[in-house]
Amino acid sequence: MKSVAIIGGGITGLTAAFRLQQKNIPVTLYEAGDRVGGVIQSVRCDGYLAEFGPNTLLETSPKVAALIDDLGLSDRRVYSDPTAKNRYVVRGKRLIKMPESPLGFIATPLFSPVAKLRLLLEPFIQRHDKSREESVAGFVQRRLGREFLDRAVDALVGGIYAGDPQKLSVSQAFPKLCALEKEYGSLIKGQVFGARKRKRSGEVAKPHARKFSFDEGLQVLTETLCAKLKGEVRMRCPVTALTQSDKAWNVRWRSHGNEGQTPHSAIVYAGTAFGLSKIEIETRVPVNVSSFADIHYPPVASVVLGFRREDVAHPLDGFGMLIPRLEGFRILGSIFSSSLFPNRAPAGHVTLTSYVGGTRSPELAHERAEELCHIVYEDLRVLLGIRGKPTFKHHVLFPKAIPQYELGYGQFRNLMAETEIGAPGLFLAGHYRDGISVSDCIVAGKQVAERIKKYLVDVPVERGTRPIEPHARVAA
Ligand SMILES: Cc1cc2nc3c(=O)[nH]c(=O)nc-3n(C[C@H](O)[C@H](O)[C@H](O)COP(=O)(O)OP(=O)(O)OC[C@H]3O[C@@H](n4cnc5c(N)ncnc54)[C@H](O)[C@@H]3O)c2cc1C
Repeated sequence: MKSVAIIGGGITGLTAAFRLQQKNIPVTLYEAGDRVGGVIQSVRCDGYLAEFGPNTLLETSPKVAALIDDLGLSDRRVYSDPTAKNRYVVRGKRLIKMPESPLGFIATPLFSPVAKLRLLLEPFIQRHDKSREESVAGFVQRRLGREFLDRAVDALVGGIYAGDPQKLSVSQAFPKLCALEKEYGSLIKGQVFGARKRKRSGEVAKPHARKFSFDEGLQVLTETLCAKLKGEVRMRCPVTALTQSDKAWNVRWRSHGNEGQTPHSAIVYAGTAFGLSKIEIETRVPVNVSSFADIHYPPVASVVLGFRREDVAHPLDGFGMLIPRLEGFRILGSIFSSSLFPNRAPAGHVTLTSYVGGTRSPELAHERAEELCHIVYEDLRVLLGIRGKPTFKHHVLFPKAIPQYELGYGQFRNLMAETEIGAPGLFLAGHYRDGISVSDCIVAGKQVAERIKKYLVDVPVERGTRPIEPHARVAA
């Protein structure tokens, strides 16, 4: 049997490859870069462990825990420190704990009394008219009020998507919020009455899911996945074209100045959306992938700074801090990495991971290293009471970091579904389609492996009987 080509060695592609291999389906993985992991990047240096891409994985689905078990990584998994569960949000240049209970909500200085009273109206607010797509900002303002949007959700969206709630589509970026409104008519009622349903499905809502990493960071996961693959892993091997013939999918690739072509039984495209737009696809029915270049990925710089513990006044007793736009800081937020997981900093030191750029200030992400560190240092100085110089400085720029599921994103998702119909045997999966979190990508990798298994079982009959039509050629 010809192998299935997996294009992209990030968490989605690696999970799909591993799951296919478990089904005795051979795989060949193509990765354009010189390492696997995609945006997952953990670096051990000078006693610090810097995590530049995602810092935590959420146990939202049993499929996530199953992958860790199947890889034999349970012993290396590290859950976040339970004492570091406070999430801070900045208001008036001060860090304020995000309330976790109704009583905490009543007492918190994060919202004004008017905003708190406004929240009581939420269960009585009408459902949205489905004919109009709503932004995250529109949804939150309508259901929870303006202050909730400006003080909490703006910061949260900056932390998750590095995005803008005015531009993101609520149904695309936060589909579960829409589902709660649709089913229960209210987010508050949905939280209360939906709990039993979630328990039955084994799914856990993101805010309540356990967070974890590994002893040497999240890269342990992607490196282990890669090490377990028995099929070929072709590094520095970008795929440039895909051609569907009657018997196979031919993958054209470039490697070390050479070009070649290899036949495969099916393809998983687990790269980026803008990467997909550059791939030439020749198939029976014309498919147009060039518009995927329009999916907006803003730049983000991850800046990891280390400090002596005594040089940071704040107790760092939490996950980290989120900063709403109206506070006027230049960083989007910070993770208190060494509070969250052990061994992220040498004894007596701490590690802070901060993010700069996103849709809020894309130009800042491209600043030179020294300027970036200065920007981050200045904000941390004011917010966390930092005195001394950093003992560790490192940063990574993601020029195109996270896809923004903006208003109209449904058209891209429809086009992805149409592409798969027009090009049977080509499967699209990953952060640009299935949700941006690492756990979403793990679930997507498993699901696409199941879809391929079904395709390979169903397809021989179909392929033998289908007349071969002239190829339609679509170049980006
Ligand atoms: C700074 C940052 C912080 C984040 N924080 C978190 C977090 O804390 N928690 C969380 O759950 N999520 C977080 N995310 C999101 C999450 O990490 C990503 O959405 C997820 O890892 C994407 O995985 P992927 O495999 O779909 O894509 P990627 O990781 O982008 O991998 C795609 C791979 O495909 C390769 N490729 C592309 N085109 C080709 C081609 N033509 N040929 C061959 N190879 C190709 C690329 O080189 C790349 O290696 C964060 C993301 C960023 C950028």
